[in-house]
Amino acid sequence: MQQSTPLAAIPAVDRVLNLPAVQAMAAEYGRNPTLAAARSVLHTLRGLARVGALPADAVSEPRLAAQVQDALERAARPCLRPLFNLTGTVLHTNLGRAPLPEEAVARAVEVMRMPCNLEYDLSGGARGDRDSLVEPLLKELTGAEAATVVNNNAAAVFLALNTLGLRREVIVSRGELVEIGGAFRVPDIMARAGCKLVEVGTTNRTHLHDFANAISDRTALLLKVHTSNYAIQGFTAAVQENELAGLAHAHGLPFMVDLGSGTLVDLSRWGLPQEPTPQQSLAAGADLVSFSGDKLLGGPQAGIIVGRRDLVAKIKKNPLKRALRVDKLSYATLEAVLRLYRDPDRLAERLPALRLLTRPAAEIEATAQAILPAVRAACAAIAEVAIAPCHSQIGSGSLPIDRLTSAGIAITPRVKGKGEGSALKKIEQAFRELPMPVIGRVAEGAFRLDMRCLENNDIGSFTAQLPQLRL
Ligand SMILES: *Cc1c(COP(=O)(O)O)cnc(C)c1O
Repeated sequence: MQQSTPLAAIPAVDRVLNLPAVQAMAAEYGRNPTLAAARSVLHTLRGLARVGALPADAVSEPRLAAQVQDALERAARPCLRPLFNLTGTVLHTNLGRAPLPEEAVARAVEVMRMPCNLEYDLSGGARGDRDSLVEPLLKELTGAEAATVVNNNAAAVFLALNTLGLRREVIVSRGELVEIGGAFRVPDIMARAGCKLVEVGTTNRTHLHDFANAISDRTALLLKVHTSNYAIQGFTAAVQENELAGLAHAHGLPFMVDLGSGTLVDLSRWGLPQEPTPQQSLAAGADLVSFSGDKLLGGPQAGIIVGRRDLVAKIKKNPLKRALRVDKLSYATLEAVLRLYRDPDRLAERLPALRLLTRPAAEIEATAQAILPAVRAACAAIAEVAIAPCHSQIGSGSLPIDRLTSAGIAITPRVKGKGEGSALKKIEQAFRELPMPVIGRVAEGAFRLDMRCLENNDIGSFTAQLPQLRL
């Protein structure tokens, strides 16, 4: 055993700052960040010395300088960074949902650099409406009379409810009182929007007469919520949109559908499970439909409301619309994404979310084979690495029970029993700490990386950083 270095051998911070190598760092990173880095390195070393675990060479000048450099580099990393999402969940809410197409990225960069006609009508030379930047496309693609955009779909539902149902009643089936991850709960949103929730039917079965019996002169709206992150199976009954629309209209009431995800194309054309579209809801008689911009649509975070002209106009007049509106970057990227939908034949190549979801299993497996040797080499000290078939999820509450055949690699620690859990944690953490973090998941005794979202263009940068894996 090497003897631990005593506390007294750790130099004062001034001495570290005066090292020529550290002086050079101060010139590059700034004096204050360098001082903070030196302090944090010395703090760590003192902690090690106190428990008798400080190796002698840790306080040599070159080692001190290297540690300060390392601390500076870490501190200089942006907090929000790109990473490899190899969790197998393509539209992962915690990992930023849909990656944007290059067309959208380019538009965002342009409008960031220069002033733009966000609310300026270039033909008339007067003040304009930011929604008019995407409304024609949304009308064309969904068949709606009008459209408006807010910060996300939660905001869209909230704003519509607050506009149409303030101090009045909104009728929803008990089977659709959904909670979406991150505290979006239909009953809570309803209460905050100032509406009284009237639940009808039961968890598994709701009939048209349940709605009919609940309608009174206090009713403002009938609402259908797409049960996007779960499925009720077995002895079930839900009322179809056209029946609800008919009932609502017979009483002079509007009918709204919260679609949640909502794609603008029929996904079965690519062999994916079908997901309801706003076009279908509108054709069935819905007066308003809301959906997310960054779920299956594959665009930026946004909440899109399409539907009847008079109702959309009312929503836009609500003062809360101003509080929930989106910025020029969202309009720029949303417009670019919507334009891709005008050419569905090329959509699966051009829209990353759809490209990833439709990636052939053989191509995914080829990616796994391509990176296998590099991962094996990087993990050789403690783990076995093998190709493992797996199943990806769409994510973000879309198509919750459907799984897509995929391929990945399983990294299995050699130690079994006691120590296995901590070895898995160590592997998971090491991948997370790479310059471009790699996020996978632990299941069945292995750290697993689903290769669906590692596109061919990224294989090089993925493997290039593996020698830095610290296991
Ligand atoms: C995802 C979802 C929401 C919330 O949408 P965000 O864009 O995440 O705010 C609301 N309702 C349903 C049914 C959803 O699936």
